[in-house]
Amino acid sequence: MARTVVVTGSTSGIGLSIARAFAAEGCNLVINGFGPAAEIETIRVGLEQHGGRAVYHGADMSKPVEIGDLMAAAVHAFGPVDVLVNNAGIQHVAPIEEFPLEKWDQILAINLSSSFHTMRAVIPAMKERRQGRIINIASAHGLVASPFKAAYVAAKHGILGLTKTAALELAEFGVTVNAICPGYVLTPLVEKQIPDTAKARGITEAQVKSDVMLKFQPTKEFVAADDIAATALYLASDAARQITGTHISIDGGWTAQ
Ligand code: NAD
Repeated sequence: MARTVVVTGSTSGIGLSIARAFAAEGCNLVINGFGPAAEIETIRVGLEQHGGRAVYHGADMSKPVEIGDLMAAAVHAFGPVDVLVNNAGIQHVAPIEEFPLEKWDQILAINLSSSFHTMRAVIPAMKERRQGRIINIASAHGLVASPFKAAYVAAKHGILGLTKTAALELAEFGVTVNAICPGYVLTPLVEKQIPDTAKARGITEAQVKSDVMLKFQPTKEFVAADDIAATALYLASDAARQITGTHISIDGGWTAQ
């Protein structure tokens, strides 16, 4: 039977790659995120070409009620969730003393609290069925910090704590909970922060890429979104059944330093 897979923030970037990877395995997908309706519909239809079905839900992941509705819609469409991928995330770059309060709240809500709400929704059925995989897309910034990213770094460190706690609570129920910690992946999220980082540091956009982003990635290459997706597939496979409560770094060596 096709697995039910929910990927939050999957209309773009890493989440979209992950959704496509699970769809290619014939899974039923629930996708989520923002974007023009026609583009999202094209994405949704594309996900169905491998035999599984796909539905879109536009929940704003900063809003617990909408998250509840998303999770209920997933079960309604395809039955209990087998794989939950918490991926939705945003970024804002500014010094702490200038960090807008509403950005702090929004980043904590989307990048951290939304995963608590989705997990809270799927855990009872996963426990009862004694199966399930939860994969949280954290970041190298879940392990190390960079200046001017206070909310993001705090939220990503938090998601690793949540991952470990949930893994312990679910360890005897056949449910694994893990995080993936990517380094810099050239997605819209990263492209958008280049001008702000240039401004905050007083350097050019080209220097942001070479001296700030890839400076920390010893391979000197951006990570491919498809590499993150391949690891998500692995964590959802039978071979990964004893991997729980941990993270896998895909960061070109960044956090080895
Ligand atoms: P992206 O901007 O390409 O995609 C983000 C997705 O989240 C989009 O689908 C967007 O519509 C959705 N989204 C944003 N706010 C939302 C909200 N309030 N409700 C619902 N959906 C919302 O970004 P990405 O680079 O693919 O990032 C995906 C995840 O990977 C994030 O959690 C990010 O922190 C993490 N990550 C990214 C990188 C990187 O270098 N790109 C590195 C490490 C971790």
